[in-house]
Amino acid sequence: MEEYREIVSDVVTTAGGAQAWIEMNLSGYLTKRCTGCDLDEDVPALAPALQWLTDHAATCTAHH
Ligand SMILES: [Zn+2]
Repeated sequence: MEEYREIVSDVVTTAGGAQAWIEMNLSGYLTKRCTGCDLDEDVPALAPALQWLTDHAATCTAHH
């Protein structure tokens, strides 16, 4: 069974046409996600996560 996660940011379209967002699981752990480069990585706090989201959307050109 897949772990429940809630999207806590906007879902943004990246430079490569993929989608990126920030998720939080039931324990409050935040995860950076990007469908372009298959990113699924923990991030310690929401502020840097949202900063990453903005930066990543502008620079990620990967797309499946
Ligand atoms: Zn990416």
